[in-house]
Amino acid sequence: MTASHRAFMRARSVIAGGVNSPVRAFKGVGGEPIFMQRGEGAYLFDVDGRRYIDYVGAWGPLILGHADADVTRAVADAAARGLAFGAPTEGETELALEVRALMPGLERLRFVSSGTEATMTALRLARAVTGRDKVVKFEGGYHGHPDSLLVKAGSGALTLGVPTSPGVPAALAAHTLVARFNDADSVGALFAQHGNDIAAVIVEPVAGNMNCVPPVAGFHERLRALCDQYGALLIFDEVMTGFRVAAGGAQALFGIRPDLTTLGKIIGGGLPVGAVGGPAALMDQLLPDGPVFQAGTNSGNPVAMAAGLATLKKLKAPGFYETLSQRVAALTVGLSEAAARHGVAFTTNAVGGMFGLFFAEGPVRYYDDVMRADADRFRRFFHGLLGLGVYLAPSAYEAGFVSAAHTPADISATVAAAEQVFSRLS
Ligand code: PLP
Repeated sequence: MTASHRAFMRARSVIAGGVNSPVRAFKGVGGEPIFMQRGEGAYLFDVDGRRYIDYVGAWGPLILGHADADVTRAVADAAARGLAFGAPTEGETELALEVRALMPGLERLRFVSSGTEATMTALRLARAVTGRDKVVKFEGGYHGHPDSLLVKAGSGALTLGVPTSPGVPAALAAHTLVARFNDADSVGALFAQHGNDIAAVIVEPVAGNMNCVPPVAGFHERLRALCDQYGALLIFDEVMTGFRVAAGGAQALFGIRPDLTTLGKIIGGGLPVGAVGGPAALMDQLLPDGPVFQAGTNSGNPVAMAAGLATLKKLKAPGFYETLSQRVAALTVGLSEAAARHGVAFTTNAVGGMFGLFFAEGPVRYYDDVMRADADRFRRFFHGLLGLGVYLAPSAYEAGFVSAAHTPADISATVAAAEQVFSRLS
């Protein structure tokens, strides 16, 4: 019996399902979660002492790799000064200025403690300023777990939303309209029918919670135009893409100015931070200057601010994103070539430091394409790689992440391991 198995059994006796976030439980791929002990650069080490090349990166935050020395030093220094004050600290302003320097559209920010809180606040703000209740999201889009966003289409796109989870009131879900990612006409049809009631469109600018699906040319421009035409707000949920696909996020990469932006993951450098930001006139509607409620005991926590600030500073190093993209390209091209050598139908998508792997012929542009991929092959691929010391996300529907700590040797070792697994899949 492994130490990891024992740890999982012990956790199950006291933690619901043995995990504190469901995807960690390996439900999508079968088997048991691996309990980790420590991380260093590109590697994770489990409680049995096994090493893995890590492509999960704590689900996105660890763009510098595990336990980056500058980040851990900043955290230790901040912690030594006090863990929390519940009063403003200058670190919050420093981090906000750093974010604004990279994303100039965020004139004002509000820090929270998770991506979920950020999207929840963005929706409340959008509903408040427009005086409208309905929101448009995309099937396969995940924005954390605010009730209004835990909704997907009941039967195809263009339907009124039905709750994805018991406990979400159907009456609330009815205010969430679901469209098809990369299909601006599906959004146009919703506006044609409900235009005067739609407060906002919320979108992951690169869909990262249905694996990794980049926008097709013109998609975001059409969303921007539709929102402008009907007086709705465009919310870019950059919790995953912010500082991941480019220094200025997807909004810089695609040249789109959203009304509100939500952030998380990388801005906390591995500690719990989220943010919502946008033009001063909108953001000033939040309490205390405006009437829209938002609050948080841990919002702007000084230790978390220090981790975020130390992380963002390092992203400005010359060539940071070029190197990251090169590593991702080496990985995705290497995997594609290895799959082809073994006659395995396989496609990859990549944007900046994130990538997607699909056991399907490409291109993968729509939610239905993602759903058509061979989930059983992914499951076998995942476990094959895990056995060879490569840790992918335990789900066929999650993006993968490369960090600045991944070396060309790590990428080559991953491709070599995948080659072995592909040979057993064909
Ligand atoms: N938005 C996006 C795009 C996400 O990927 C996530 C989490 O994965 C969230 C929001 C929710 O963030 P959190 O898990 O910090 O609540």
